[in-house]
Amino acid sequence: MNPLLAHGALPRFAEIRAEHVEPAITRLIAEQDAALTAIEARAATATDIWGQVIDALSLALEPLGWAWGVVNHLMGVRNAPDLRAAHEAVQPAVVQASMRVSQSRPVYLAAKRLAAAPEWPRLAEAQRRIVQALVRDAELAGVGLEGAARERFNAIETELAELSTTYSNHVLDATKAFALTLTTKDEVAGLPDSLLAGAAQAARAAGAADATAAAGPWRITLDFPSYGPFMEHSLRRDLRERVLRAQISRASQGETDNQPVIERILALRLEEARLLGFASYAELSVARKMAGTVGAVERLLDELRAVAMPRMRQEFAELQDFARAELKDPAFELRHWDGAFWAERLRERRYSYSDEALRPYFALPRVLDGLFALASRLFGVRIERADATETWHGDVGWFRVRDLSGEKAGADIAAFYLDPYSRPADKRGGAWMDICLNRRRLGSGLRLPVAYLICNQTPPVDGKPSLMTFREVETLFHEFGHGLQHMLTTVDHADAAGINNVEWDAVELPSQFMENWCYHRETVIGANGFAKHWQTGEPLPAATFEKIAAARTFRAATMIMRQVYFATLDIELHHRFKPGAEKPQDVVARIAPLNTVLLPLQEDRALCSFSHIFAGGYSAGYYSYKWAEVLSADAFSAFAEAGLEDPAAIARVGRRFRDTVLAQGGSRHPMQVFKDFRGREPSTTALLKQAGLA
Ligand code: ZN
Repeated sequence: MNPLLAHGALPRFAEIRAEHVEPAITRLIAEQDAALTAIEARAATATDIWGQVIDALSLALEPLGWAWGVVNHLMGVRNAPDLRAAHEAVQPAVVQASMRVSQSRPVYLAAKRLAAAPEWPRLAEAQRRIVQALVRDAELAGVGLEGAARERFNAIETELAELSTTYSNHVLDATKAFALTLTTKDEVAGLPDSLLAGAAQAARAAGAADATAAAGPWRITLDFPSYGPFMEHSLRRDLRERVLRAQISRASQGETDNQPVIERILALRLEEARLLGFASYAELSVARKMAGTVGAVERLLDELRAVAMPRMRQEFAELQDFARAELKDPAFELRHWDGAFWAERLRERRYSYSDEALRPYFALPRVLDGLFALASRLFGVRIERADATETWHGDVGWFRVRDLSGEKAGADIAAFYLDPYSRPADKRGGAWMDICLNRRRLGSGLRLPVAYLICNQTPPVDGKPSLMTFREVETLFHEFGHGLQHMLTTVDHADAAGINNVEWDAVELPSQFMENWCYHRETVIGANGFAKHWQTGEPLPAATFEKIAAARTFRAATMIMRQVYFATLDIELHHRFKPGAEKPQDVVARIAPLNTVLLPLQEDRALCSFSHIFAGGYSAGYYSYKWAEVLSADAFSAFAEAGLEDPAAIARVGRRFRDTVLAQGGSRHPMQVFKDFRGREPSTTALLKQAGLA
């Protein structure tokens, strides 16, 4: 039997081959379509709408959802040309099938009928949230529209999809069009070895067959891994200026000019929002987010700005003084191309420790022990590496999560795979958590949630364990936080269990929350801390830990203001901008003075490469980064208030965190969940404190 048809269980990774994809997915699409047709046929007359329509639909979507999840998972962790081809062949049909579901008018009407029915208040909160999300998403997909309005809506959607592709192609092409080829030692002065190696490789790819890291030529590009380190390290101020000017004016002229694209996108988004009954596109965007209103978003940004803006001016002055002293030039003026460079010098001066020197203290096995011990102290769960279950690679571990408390103490409640190491040949970069199985009540039984935790850290070499950078440790904690929300859910309805149905701007709460523990003294260098030298067992020196902790607040106001500036621009463009009557660049001109120290250069067209909001999912949602950080810092501060050195207090607050944020997932509005945990609405104070600004 085709292993991709065995839904609802752990995937049989050893058996799954690329040739299984097309037949399985094609068959599952047909089955799902047939099931949807049957559900639609009874939707109008169903007496038990929850059971016959909503839940039936959820069950009908599971086989394809499961199989497609497995295929996508393998695309990320065991990529191969045959798998990619199979994926590409069926993807359009999968997208179509899912659009058919989200735009089903009979299902939408039945859901609306249920929400108005006498039995509505008797449904569980999770059920009501599922129905509400279904209605909302269908309406935002235009299902509520009729006739000409519906046609216009669909035309806008099609044009917007094309414009977004055009926009990102322009950014890609414009990025590729620029390169600075360096040939002399003087031109590469200051550049680190890793950048020289990458730049020589780029030169070889561009035709300079014998380019080497030591002798050049070196090709500097606007791709971030090249651009970022170049701006931080190049000693040649004139070259930094050239590269920066190219970077900020990307995709703003000629064939790849995004300015008309932006105007069109903004005009269409506004028109679409009005069709759906919103005054602005920003209002449409936040309607499905925790923030709920544009006013709430702006209040948050205003609060952060009020504190961070004056501090950013201080940080700027401080950096300029530092540069003046170093250069022995009291008249030196810090310009746009100097900030990253001097900030890096100041960082080196203040917190001299190197990532490399820290690695021996962060060996994966010890870090995992520390992380699991923390989970046990905070949330009352025991995590154990289990006997091998079938996985997709020999590096992958399989872990069981057991409850230590309650009536079923000792019982399994979840499990996860951990795929920790980088495998550039067939594994996507970055780190993520993904769903393998959702928790779901099935008749009298309960299926437990299973997660994939994927990192890309340094693999073990020469008989040494994987020795991690501090950033890799943070990443592991981050993904584990997402995993906890997926695994410690107590919701039995899959569509609201774990991370499902959690609002976009709230989803990073548990993950960023877990990162905080990497700065918790006891957890890192306490008696049972995980930062111990992998050979000698010696703990990380306290002075080094202090430096790591202090470096966290380095130029914090500048970092915050960068995000606040972009978030403000994003909201302004989608809320107050008047297409036709003004230019997007006018918005930059009125927002920049309130959010920057150095005003944008005359040729600055940052909007032309702001892909997050014009070609990604972040339109009128860029604020989400800061929103979730406020939540996670505020959540962590509950532990600080209770006493970070007091194990009983930590266990008590941890239990509450588990019972609210981790357990309830999408079954309750995130503001309610947060209030259940914190006893009040979120406040920016904790984040500002954490950043050293309060
Ligand atoms: Zn995350």
